[in-house]
Amino acid sequence: MAKLKYERPVIKKLNAGLMNKFGTRTEFEPVKHIDGVAVKSLIEKYGSPVFVISERQMRRNYQNAVRSFKTRYPKVQFAWSYKTNYINAVCNVFHQEGSWGEVVSGFEYNKALRNGVPGNKIIFNGPDKSEQDLRDAIKNDSLIHIDHFDELYSLISLCETINAKPRVAIRVNMDTGIYPMWDRFGFNYENGSAWNAIQKIIGSGKLRLVGLHSHIGTFMLAPSAYSVAASKLCDLMWHCKNQHNLQLQYIDLGGGFPSQNTLKGSYLPGTDTVPSIDEFAEAITTTILNFGFKTEELPLLILETGRALIDDAGYLLGSVLANKRLADGRRATIMDFGVNIMFTSFWYDHKISPAQDFTHHTEDQVVYGPLCMNIDCIRESVSLPLLNRGDHVVVHKVGAYNMTQWMQFIAMRPNVVMIDMEQTPHLIRRAEKLDDIVSLEEMPAYLKKIDLK
Ligand SMILES: *Cc1c(COP(=O)(O)O)cnc(C)c1O
Repeated sequence: MAKLKYERPVIKKLNAGLMNKFGTRTEFEPVKHIDGVAVKSLIEKYGSPVFVISERQMRRNYQNAVRSFKTRYPKVQFAWSYKTNYINAVCNVFHQEGSWGEVVSGFEYNKALRNGVPGNKIIFNGPDKSEQDLRDAIKNDSLIHIDHFDELYSLISLCETINAKPRVAIRVNMDTGIYPMWDRFGFNYENGSAWNAIQKIIGSGKLRLVGLHSHIGTFMLAPSAYSVAASKLCDLMWHCKNQHNLQLQYIDLGGGFPSQNTLKGSYLPGTDTVPSIDEFAEAITTTILNFGFKTEELPLLILETGRALIDDAGYLLGSVLANKRLADGRRATIMDFGVNIMFTSFWYDHKISPAQDFTHHTEDQVVYGPLCMNIDCIRESVSLPLLNRGDHVVVHKVGAYNMTQWMQFIAMRPNVVMIDMEQTPHLIRRAEKLDDIVSLEEMPAYLKKIDLK
């Protein structure tokens, strides 16, 4: 028989009666492989910490979402939300699957063009489009989603100087029963400014209004909110037809479907409470189908789903730096990854699995990152199997927003690896080096010399 592994002793307070604040243990099996590739070998080859993305899971998520909508509605198009994760290899997996691009800045717009997305398959959203961005979008026949009146007016005056009639839509915000309402983007439905914008566009004769857009929020847990949004967009579309004889081509309901992460403060885990894509698809498509359009006039339904397609395809592998006991007696584990690369730990209680065998003993603890900054806390209270210095862990569902919102603070950003369909890992973004960072800096000549003798 193999010799049993030594484990340090633990002292635990017994709680009779009330549940303790750490909840119950959640880890029962170590996670030693991701898509058949050993966690240990990934860390050996690419360092620790390292982000790992499963191409298989991405494609599965995408195909599943497309199936949910296409089986219920005849005309559906997805557009990948670049800001959710704009590493080129990630974007191109979705583009290979047939997804258009959805961008919210000139930087993202050019990234999509460089990835080979045809200009007329890029949706340009957001409140910040420079005059140059608008010129590029017009030249490339992209879909410009207008956010505010100032943008509308500058687009109209731009079109007076250049001979083009760009394809545009307006972003509409509305009361969907979810508060706080996201009313800072686009034109409001209830107070009439959306209709006002539509009248101005049509009246100008300079722009081609082809669609209507909304993005009501992110991590939305109520499919019914999308029914409300869909019916309000259908209503505007109906009025365009009846009052202006203008047939719009599409309705774009944006993104916002939740992933199965657990929001901080939730009582039950996300895997038990988050509605499936099917429920959102059902709510949206029945609303549009029942609105009363003729079959041949049904709009194309565009979706800009981000988070729900990528979150569970992303993992963060890391290692334990130290164990310690805090002054108040709590146990603490310090990891080699922190909030600098895991921005979403401010919103979620991320699941953390040990990557090696463990016993039935657990410890209630706080999990910290390595930064020398008090807010660098990954989990405020969690019951985990005993972890030792050098042990590896896998953090789940980190594919959305972490690889775009990460910051170069104290430490540099790590490697990102994608495991392909044949279980081969590929480096898709190399770790930053000191030279990468300092190459952006300039030293004034008079500061070059220092002398601390
Ligand atoms: C961020 C964003 C999305 C993607 O949102 P998810 O919550 O990641 O699905 C889609 N459309 C617009 C306009 C956005 O700003």
